[in-house]
Amino acid sequence: MTVPSSCALPAGVRAATALGIGGTVAAPNLPRNPFALVDLQARRVEYLRVSVTDRCNYRCSYCMPAQGVPVVPRDELLAFDEIARLVRQFVALGVRKVRLTGGEPLLRRDLVRLVDQVARVPGIDDLAMTTNGHLLEGLAAPLRAAGLQRLNVSLDTLDAGRFAAVTRQGDLATVLRGLDAADAAGFEHTKLNAVVLRGLNDGDLGALAAFGARRGYLVRFIEYMPIGVDDHWGPATYLPAAEMRERLATDGWTLTPDPAATHPGGGPARHWVGNGPAGERVALGFIAAVSEKFCRLCNRVRLSATGTLRECLSAHGTLSLRDRLRAGATDADLRAAILAALLGKVDAHRFDGNEPTHEAMSSIGG
Ligand code: SAM
Ligand code: SF4
Repeated sequence: MTVPSSCALPAGVRAATALGIGGTVAAPNLPRNPFALVDLQARRVEYLRVSVTDRCNYRCSYCMPAQGVPVVPRDELLAFDEIARLVRQFVALGVRKVRLTGGEPLLRRDLVRLVDQVARVPGIDDLAMTTNGHLLEGLAAPLRAAGLQRLNVSLDTLDAGRFAAVTRQGDLATVLRGLDAADAAGFEHTKLNAVVLRGLNDGDLGALAAFGARRGYLVRFIEYMPIGVDDHWGPATYLPAAEMRERLATDGWTLTPDPAATHPGGGPARHWVGNGPAGERVALGFIAAVSEKFCRLCNRVRLSATGTLRECLSAHGTLSLRDRLRAGATDADLRAAILAALLGKVDAHRFDGNEPTHEAMSSIGG
């Protein structure tokens, strides 16, 4: 990557450099700095998604092929101390929201200890996790006790047969018990993520919306993105968010946009509110990464399970923070490398329907 000379940088980045961000300031004590982690489009990065494993116990059809994807040897994964140290650097640079994801994060051995370590990093306002929920029943209470604040659970349908078909190895009843356990453990503002596939679960939107309304979960319907090792994405499977809302309207749901809605943890969803055919009052989110690009508002970066910084979902990261760290980089070196890499954050993703990313979402972290 070519790093532009400092006079070519936006004011925020120049100021950050001048202030020594990435330089000498001790990470945990750094006050919130309005100039830190600003990219060339003046987007301030405040949200870090950390993949804690590339392994998964499901094989969702939109994410990976039926046989799964090759996984990396365990010693290539970031160790807990390495994850915590990197999170500290990002927080020093202005990150306030951290999400643990995967693969399936609950498969990472001793995950509760990792959550405890990350929760102790001063300066994180929101520590959340995205999970398929399969192992949540036994882990919800210890995760909550360790400091995890919020959960997003992937749930594409409430029909057991279709759930098994879309996840290939999943079991709906087990996930529903996981959600019960999360509620009992005191998790609030839980969100449900449903990737909507034409001809598969596009008839299940109303049932999911009603379930969310009953349980107090924000349901978010996600457009299928052309990411994955299968060539499964296409007009036969992709359903734009506008058509999802048409389907809901046909089923008797009256929805109106709610652009002012705020939900804990924020996120890229556009919100709608309304009523269901049985009088349900709902708030729904639509994540339309393909049909309604939200890259202008992107505030996130991703850290892969092997420690590679990925500046955009559709860009292959090139900076291995793990290699730097294992080669003896100081905290200041790490922050400087992160800042420089962020200058390469692309202005927008490159899906546009024509450029599938041939990498499993499980290895990117969603
Ligand atoms: N295993 C966890 C789970 O499923 O919640 C976390 C990792 S998963 C890769 C993160 C999110 O990415 C999930 O909500 C999943 O539904 C979503 N996802 C995976 N493949 C996708 C695709 N091709 N398009 C849109 N969303 C996708
Ligand atoms: Fe696993 Fe999540 Fe991908 Fe499904 S979406 S295969 S649960 S990583």
